Amino acid sequence: MNMNYTAEELAFRDEVRAFLDEKLPADIAAKVKGFRKMTKEDHQRWQKILTEQGWYASHWPEEYGGVKWTPVQKHIWDEESCAYGVPRTIPFGVNMVAPVIIKFGTEEQKQHYLPKILSGEHWWCQGYSEPGAGSDLASLKTRAVREGDHYIVNGQKTWTTLGQHANMIFCLVRTNTEVKAQEGISFLLIDMDTPGISVRPIITLDGEHEVNEVFFQDVKVPVENLVGEEDKGWTYAKYLLTYERTGLAGIGLSKAALTHLKQLASRRQKNGKPLLEDPTFGQRIAQVEIDLMAATISNLRIIAAVEGGGVPGAESSMLKVKGTEIRQSINDLARRAIGPYAVPFVEEEMSLDYEGEFLSDENASPLAAQYFNNRKLSIFGGSNEIQKNIVSKMILGL
Ligand SMILES: Cc1cc2nc3c(=O)[nH]c(=O)nc-3n(C[C@H](O)[C@H](O)[C@H](O)COP(=O)(O)OP(=O)(O)OC[C@H]3O[C@@H](n4cnc5c(N)ncnc54)[C@H](O)[C@@H]3O)c2cc1C
Repeated sequence: MNMNYTAEELAFRDEVRAFLDEKLPADIAAKVKGFRKMTKEDHQRWQKILTEQGWYASHWPEEYGGVKWTPVQKHIWDEESCAYGVPRTIPFGVNMVAPVIIKFGTEEQKQHYLPKILSGEHWWCQGYSEPGAGSDLASLKTRAVREGDHYIVNGQKTWTTLGQHANMIFCLVRTNTEVKAQEGISFLLIDMDTPGISVRPIITLDGEHEVNEVFFQDVKVPVENLVGEEDKGWTYAKYLLTYERTGLAGIGLSKAALTHLKQLASRRQKNGKPLLEDPTFGQRIAQVEIDLMAATISNLRIIAAVEGGGVPGAESSMLKVKGTEIRQSINDLARRAIGPYAVPFVEEEMSLDYEGEFLSDENASPLAAQYFNNRKLSIFGGSNEIQKNIVSKMILGL
């Protein structure tokens, strides 16, 4: 495996840097780098800029408005965009439901939904999990019964990320109770404004409203909103999950967070010296940096295999486990670096407009909240325990 970029790849990196220098709004980058609150409007503003550049749908076929980046180009984009403070793409439309529509949808569905994802007119959320159906997703119970040219949907979804902003939801629903669990599931596209849908917030450990419960009571969904065939939704659901897991390792994000951690530790003092020079703390940072370097190399190995025509298999599970553990370790060290100041949470400090005095370091106020929020990393996208089951079966042959 050649670890060096080719001349073309270096030229692409320059192009990415020039674009970000010119087009990334300074206020948005400051929010991302300072871990401040992003609004829906921030996300939409940045999406519009990326779409105008033609880079928003970086893995769609070109005929639908995508761009043909190689795996290495995607890796370069990931590293550079994280270093610059580009907001994380909200994945539910562009990275999740779109590939399913492109592969399994009708021509009408492609023509109707894909342009609205690109333009930002549709904000999607993901209706997979239910109370009682998380890791064991196939046991889901939300029921869709066909009546003429509609399905009548009843049930509940949960943990629906950013569902409060969404005007569309893709749902796994049970259309057949007479067969094996996996064989009676269908994939429906549902307009969130349909009567009978209600959204209730779940407030997470960090005090944020990021996830929701979504209830369906006699919701009428036109049959043309079914993707593919009735009862075949499990196949499409699994296809979508391969896209969900891609990028969950968050190597670029960890690199940016590590840089921030080092800056923080060089400003904080312990026994009259920067915390970074404390042997115990320094050793912990070194350990996480070594793990991150190893994960980066593994990521590149997978990229090289994909470039050579391979398909990422259980290696992505390994990378998801290591990548999320690394991010959580960096969050933990950052929280420890500011010590007791991590505990009080001053809401106002989360705004870029805040002009008061900071309780601790200017870039330290959101760290405890971030630590709590990122406990989710080892749960969603297939919990780390489930990923370990996959690794033990597929790689270790246990
Ligand atoms: C912040 C956040 C956002 C989310 N966003 C969405 C979203 O937008 N849309 C959506 O549909 N879902 C979403 N999810 C749901 C997520 O996919 C589930 O939480 C996840 O699949 C785990 O399911 P569960 O919470 O029901 O836990 P359970 O499946 O009940 O698991 C509980 C514990 O048991 C372990 N466990 C379960 N089965 C096994 C096994 N076979 N072997 C070993 N250990 C096992 C798990 O690892 C976990 O530690 C989100 C979750 C979180 C936390």
